[in-house]
Amino acid sequence: MNPSDGAEMAQTSHIVDLRSDTVTRPTPSMRSFMMAAPVGDDVFDEDPTVHELQQKVAQYFGHEAALFVPSGTMANQIAVRVHTRPGDELLCEASSHIYVWEAGGPAALSGVTCRPLATDDGLLTVDRLEGKIRPDNEHYPRTRLVCLENTHNRAGGRVVPLSLMQDVRRWASSHGLAVHLDGARLWNAIVATGVDGAQWGECVDSLSVCFSKGLGAPVGSCLVGSRELIASARRVRKLFGGGMRQAGVIAAAALFALEHHVDRLAEDHRHARLIAEALADCPGVKLTPPTVETNLVWFEIDPELGTARDVQEALRREGILILSTGPQECRAVTHLDVSPTDAARSAEVIRRVLRSTRTIRGIGRERLPGSD
Ligand SMILES: *Cc1c(COP(=O)(O)O)cnc(C)c1O
Repeated sequence: MNPSDGAEMAQTSHIVDLRSDTVTRPTPSMRSFMMAAPVGDDVFDEDPTVHELQQKVAQYFGHEAALFVPSGTMANQIAVRVHTRPGDELLCEASSHIYVWEAGGPAALSGVTCRPLATDDGLLTVDRLEGKIRPDNEHYPRTRLVCLENTHNRAGGRVVPLSLMQDVRRWASSHGLAVHLDGARLWNAIVATGVDGAQWGECVDSLSVCFSKGLGAPVGSCLVGSRELIASARRVRKLFGGGMRQAGVIAAAALFALEHHVDRLAEDHRHARLIAEALADCPGVKLTPPTVETNLVWFEIDPELGTARDVQEALRREGILILSTGPQECRAVTHLDVSPTDAARSAEVIRRVLRSTRTIRGIGRERLPGSD
């Protein structure tokens, strides 16, 4: 940051961070709850708070068991490992987190190839899956697993409809394939649709959920499935280095979040729509997709207006942080630490800054590469 930036930022009383829903900080009440949590050694399976969380989460999704792990990535990669053998293949949507944003985990950790299926809307329908199972022949990998994502991050935080998931489940079962759901933001789908956890849970053999995104916990995810699957998952968690000791301290944050931070996601969705409406009012900005269903707002910048970095920088100067995710592509995300005032101010700044086209172009170039 150069000194003039500092002066500009100083005028901004408060920064609104819309880069991701992972930037939330534990609230004072959450911290108190964490402080008071009874703990034990969870590798010995003796942490009462972790037990309570695992039981609650399993029950919430109508499954037998759950396992607390450090991250959503680990939950997904443990699932891939327990559902497959080396040389197997999994089917996934081409822009899914498991395929794109987990550092090549299926190949590196499980010896599994991904068959990414490109879609224009992120929806892995049975129509699109049909015909993608390899014939039973020694030349081919063995198709073993379908991975879904709900809400779908790259598809704009879109909710994958329950009926689609039910259809995929039926199709997969009839072909002997397992179904895993990356439900990092399944909470958002639950609140957006009113369809409860057990109904989503019924469509899958395993699912992962994150507590460290919209729910506002500092860390932690759960993998959910049958007792047998979770017993294998426990061994893989140890193998991947995810066995934790007095993990009740962080499991308590997840328990607190489950109790207090699920229903309020509706507020994040309202705030996201407010920001999306402001963006839709700006010439040269296109919402992708045009409809915002949950807390993610993805949008494209017309080169006439500038680049994604120009937009990121112009908003940063006004105390609004968003993410440029490609040359012309941006993302803004609402979450627990975005108040109604913050959301209103973000919408106001976006309208004011992005509607004055001439001030945007080239702004992002003034900064040193990698300085953000
Ligand atoms: C964030 C995210 C994850 C997991 O991320 P971690 O940072 O490893 O917790 C998994 N899937 C999706 C769709 C995500 O957005």
